[in-house]
This record gives sequence, structure tokens and C-alpha cells, in this order.
Amino acid sequence: MRLLVFGIHPDDIELSCGGSVALAARQGHEVILADLSTGEASSNGTPEERAKEAMEASKILGATQRVNLGFHDTKIQCEDPQQLHAVVSCVRRFKPDFVFIPHKEDPHPDHASGGELIERSLYFAGVQGYQTGADAWAVKQGLIYIGRLEIDPDFIVDITSTFEVRVRAIKAHRTQFIGGEGRKPTPINSPEFLPFIEARSRCYGFRIGARYGEPFLTLKPMALSDFNLFMG
Ligand SMILES: [Zn+2]
Repeated sequence: MRLLVFGIHPDDIELSCGGSVALAARQGHEVILADLSTGEASSNGTPEERAKEAMEASKILGATQRVNLGFHDTKIQCEDPQQLHAVVSCVRRFKPDFVFIPHKEDPHPDHASGGELIERSLYFAGVQGYQTGADAWAVKQGLIYIGRLEIDPDFIVDITSTFEVRVRAIKAHRTQFIGGEGRKPTPINSPEFLPFIEARSRCYGFRIGARYGEPFLTLKPMALSDFNLFMG
């Protein structure tokens, strides 16, 4: 199976669904990470530093490859025809079975507009009349990760076996999550942040009887044709 995981900024994937990404990679699935922007509006870290950190994190997660679509940070617009064209082209290039999407009600405007942009792109990727020079491609399902929102999930992934990998991938983004000398203080480089990530993962894990969990919504209803799937 092939998964295409979209993030808006170079650390979004690690922060929101890194445990699931690492689990899928460990289970032998092909995982491609696609960041929409280089994160140049961040309080800390240059785009070059952030690109290096993202590649290091990608290796830690076990992703096959990571690409960056080069949109401008703070200017992600679901109405922008060029951005739509670029995301549709990306989907048609990689032909994924499943696509990970940020929630379109996230408080960060880039995440919200990016989530909407990606949902629209999945629709148009399957429409032959929307032309990019590549064949139409219909994904099986969109999996929406919830970022900072609190929402009742459709399913929770047991990431107990990969939680530690996710934390290492987060820490690879040193300019973002390690505070101190020469860095501007932010909510995500304070000593409170990683314990918050752990507590949140423990809360979702507890709901499925696991130590750590990551929550998701699905873009459309999940099909079930085999009751044995309930056994897992
Ligand atoms: Zn972000």
C-alpha cells in the first residue's frame, strides 16, 4: 500500500501523526511525505535548516521520500488555482491509496486552508477533465489528523510501538523544539511542550486500551466487508 502524508509546515506530520507514519513504514508500506511550505515564517530556524531537519526526521520515521511543494508560509490558500494544480499534480504523481490530511477547522489558518485545499485536490485528482498532463487518480480514502483540535475521532491508531520514534522525529526539528541560547521563546520550544504531546497521546491511547494513540477522522465512511477486521 502507498500512503501520501501531507503537512503544511515541515514539522506538522511529526507533531500530528508521526507515530502512525512510523507504524505504516515499519509494516512495509510505502510512505511519502509532502510538505506544502518551507516554514519560512517560523520564529526560529531558516528554511535551509528546516529542510535538513525535515529530511533527518523523515529518515527516523522510515518514510520512502519527502518532498516540499514550496508554497509560501502564511499564504496557503484553498482558492488559489496554482496551489490546487500543484497538489493535484502531486497526488497524480505518487498515486497513493490513502492520503493523510490536516483538519480544515484547525486554529492555524494555513492548516485550515491547507486541509481544504488538499480535500479539493483529492476530488479533482480523480476528474479526468481537470488537466495537469497526468492521468486522473482516485484515492481510496482520506485520513484526517486533528492537529490541535479536540474532536471525537472515527478511529485511533495504537502507536505504542512507535511513540518513541515519533518523539525522536519531533526532536530532529531542533530549531523548533529545543529552546535556549539564541532562540526566540515559543510555546513549542518550552519545556512544557513534549510532556503535553505525551499526555495527549496517552489520553487517546487510553480510549482504545493502549498506552499511546493518535486520532483520525475519515473523509468518507469506511467500508467493511469482513467482520474479522474487528478482531484486530
Ligand atoms: Zn504547521
